[in-house]
Amino acid sequence: MAGEPQADCLFCKIVAGEVPATVVRESQTIVAFRDINPQAPTHVLVIPKAHYPDAASLAAAEPQLAVDVLLEAGEVAAAENIVAGDSGPGTGYRIVFNTGSGAGQTVFHAHAHVLGGRGLNWPPG
Ligand code: 5GP
Repeated sequence: MAGEPQADCLFCKIVAGEVPATVVRESQTIVAFRDINPQAPTHVLVIPKAHYPDAASLAAAEPQLAVDVLLEAGEVAAAENIVAGDSGPGTGYRIVFNTGSGAGQTVFHAHAHVLGGRGLNWPPG
């Protein structure tokens, strides 16, 4: 059923506590944890606890939960002091939803990357 945990999903295992992660924020419906292979001083993944394979399928099935992921990403950025206008090396941050393997998605459980703490180039690679 849509949203149900998947036995072979790494992020479902993190939600279940079966795979350890450095959790920075958690609510009833969302968990945010540090990426194991950080690409910036702040690199946090924000995921819905419910399993959807990507951001678009999450938004289609549970629009409020998709909004909550974005709100949580903003809370992570605030907690990490990377919101534009803050002092420090990174002014501003990036929220990324890689969608599809050709776009770099490797874990097929919807997740927002929150990246900041350094200058970020555009366009991305
Ligand atoms: P994607 O490539 O699907 O957009 O993002 C998946 C992210 O999950 C990658 O940035 C990768 O480093 C991260 N990742 C993969 N395995 C683990 C893990 O076991 N723990 C954590 N915390 N992050 C992981």
